[in-house]
Amino acid sequence: MAGIKSRRLFARAQRAIPGGVNSPVRAFKAVGGTPVFAARGAGAYLFDPDGRRYADFCLSWGPLIFGHARKEIVFAAQAAMKNGTTFGAATEGEMLLAEAIKKAVPSIDLVRLTSSGTEAVFSALRLARAFTGRTLVVKFAGSYHGHVDSLLVGAGSAAATLGLPDSAGVPKAWAKTTIVLPYNDSQAVAGAFAQWGGDIAAVIVEPVAGNMGVVLPEPGFLQALKAQTARHKALLIFDEVITGFRLGLGGAQGLYGIRPDLTCLGKIVGGGFPLAAFGGRRDIMELLAPLGPVYQAGTLSGNPVAVAAGRKCLELLRRGNPYPALDAAARGFVREAEAAAQKAGVPVTINRAASMFTIFFAESPVTNFLQAKRADAKRYGKFFNGLLAAGVYFPPAQFEAAFLSTAHDAWVREQTLKALGRALNAL
Ligand SMILES: *Cc1c(COP(=O)(O)O)cnc(C)c1O
Repeated sequence: MAGIKSRRLFARAQRAIPGGVNSPVRAFKAVGGTPVFAARGAGAYLFDPDGRRYADFCLSWGPLIFGHARKEIVFAAQAAMKNGTTFGAATEGEMLLAEAIKKAVPSIDLVRLTSSGTEAVFSALRLARAFTGRTLVVKFAGSYHGHVDSLLVGAGSAAATLGLPDSAGVPKAWAKTTIVLPYNDSQAVAGAFAQWGGDIAAVIVEPVAGNMGVVLPEPGFLQALKAQTARHKALLIFDEVITGFRLGLGGAQGLYGIRPDLTCLGKIVGGGFPLAAFGGRRDIMELLAPLGPVYQAGTLSGNPVAVAAGRKCLELLRRGNPYPALDAAARGFVREAEAAAQKAGVPVTINRAASMFTIFFAESPVTNFLQAKRADAKRYGKFFNGLLAAGVYFPPAQFEAAFLSTAHDAWVREQTLKALGRALNAL
């Protein structure tokens, strides 16, 4: 249960902020209880205003691959800030970050920076529509691509349907521009192209899904998307806002060897600051203003403080190559968690890709959203609150990814596994 200070702050916040939060999942509605407020973070730990410490496996939903307040990143941001916090003019730093992104992700010839993943996604869609002269976009049920109007459809649709809005305020006409298909269903993708091929501008996919909980692409799925889009002259957009710099420097496309036409990046690329990016093939990206007719802009785009943090983060990743160690740590952690669940007699399915994973309270494999939704979200809520009481902060919802950072050393993992075993036993 949240401490007295968090509870007081939450009560007061609700008088000034809708629901007391600036992003809905922070309100703990999916797990019950009062949200823990964050006072500070250090390495693997989050501290609340009551002075309680939590081993943090939510990690701001993905950006913190080095944990909280990694000192080189903080110093880089501080140094940049002293020279001015925003210019609304081109800078050397943003050019260097663009070069670092290009080097890490070879499918990106040209890249533009934005302030959020949502912006990156809707800009990429506008561009794809302009390039192809088509309207429809294919997405997969259970995927999240930011709160882009036309993509707020299809949480849970298993059939190939033209979308209905999931959010009030999204015109039906916009939702209808989205075709929602089940994740990992290559057949459905072929069917959609057979039916609407000439009207499909793009397929957008999380190449490893993170927003229905972690769901891995089955062998051949991403290849089928590449083949279908190429054949029908539609674009393939990889939404690597989570997976970019998480699964490796080259993201999921590096890991699976697929070259998308456009890529969206966010989270890690900003080093914990509001920064995201979209990029890809030169002939497509050159349609952007000022070169071409597709308008896209931002007062704080390429913000120098965020850029400095992002550059330092990518530099640390390149120099330190923490990926093999992170993968091994996560593999061991998940194996132990599975053993603990078995010992407690609690059926779970744990999906993992590198240092991102989800513990589904489900018996059978989870390869799409329909299967994910069979997981016992109530049970997850109990598990979450058991962990929280023991000083472990997991994502406050079943259908989300948990993350490890380089700061989650053997001690943190071991202590967490003990708490996890107790939380499972108490279910
Ligand atoms: C987080 C996320 C987004 C949205 O990014 P914001 O910075 O929150 O706007 C888009 N796509 C995916 C896959 C994400 O996980």
